[in-house]
Amino acid sequence: MTESTYRIQGATGEWEVVIGLEVHAQISSNAKLFSGAATEFGAEPNTQVSLVDAAMPGMLPVLNGECVRQAVRTGLAINAQINKYSRFDRKNYFYADLPQGYQISQLYHPIVGEGEIEISLDEKDPDAHGKTIGIERIHIEQDAGKLMHDQHPTMSYVDLNRCGVALMEIVSKPDMTSPKEAGAYVKKLRSILRYVGSCDGNMEQGSMRADVNVSVRKPGDELGIRTETKNVNSVRFVQMVIEYEAQRQVDVLEGGGEVVQETRLFDPDKNETRSMRSKE
Ligand code: ADP
Ligand code: MG
Repeated sequence: MTESTYRIQGATGEWEVVIGLEVHAQISSNAKLFSGAATEFGAEPNTQVSLVDAAMPGMLPVLNGECVRQAVRTGLAINAQINKYSRFDRKNYFYADLPQGYQISQLYHPIVGEGEIEISLDEKDPDAHGKTIGIERIHIEQDAGKLMHDQHPTMSYVDLNRCGVALMEIVSKPDMTSPKEAGAYVKKLRSILRYVGSCDGNMEQGSMRADVNVSVRKPGDELGIRTETKNVNSVRFVQMVIEYEAQRQVDVLEGGGEVVQETRLFDPDKNETRSMRSKE
């Protein structure tokens, strides 16, 4: 096994970086997770919105069996446990791109349990034996719509086409220890999804995006407190986030401060992450 030894040199010695990724992958299917509306990318705003997606009173969701089959196929492709019993839950939050006022997700009983993905650390050979990254779970959930703040000087517009589209959230264990490993993981996962046909893997179109969890610790120490940087949409950006965020945390800790568990946003133009909200 070729462990990479990525370390950050601080004033107080070496620091190790720990990374866990939550990848949102849009499930390839003709219809949405709980409605018959189309899912094609790039359609005119609000032309693929059923009464269910717009959360009209009295509408009832009907589960799209193909989305479930896609998640099971993905689970089988990563040697994961397929749970015979799974269940949806409501995650309540109020936001203009979510007319229901809640997201339907699988919090307590995901469809796919523990699995694994073997990554290659040899850039020239994606199939080389490298390191095994544990998968915690895959659950199915609804995507939200999209707000557009740059179309009008005083108003925001909303496009509900993406509202209710099925996503898989693929949650890794905190098993990666360098930007390179995280990059190799995203690439390998993308090729598995494409191979089984459960997601097209187009990161530029947002059909695959990663929440990047990063913490630092002195080698051998317990896991440190992590931050989560949301919606990172390229392999390169995932790696930039890890480099920036790990260095920032080392600076905070060596300056006598504490890392706050929070959600951050990445600004690729400035190459920095910024605090968005504290966790929960
Ligand atoms: P949440 O639902 O609050 O985001 P999870 O337990 O589902 O929390 O974990 C989210 C992700 O964070 C997982 O991918 C996991 O591997 C990763 N993670 C957990 N602890 C750490 C840590 N100390 N450092 C880096 N990543 C971590
Ligand atoms: Mg999370």
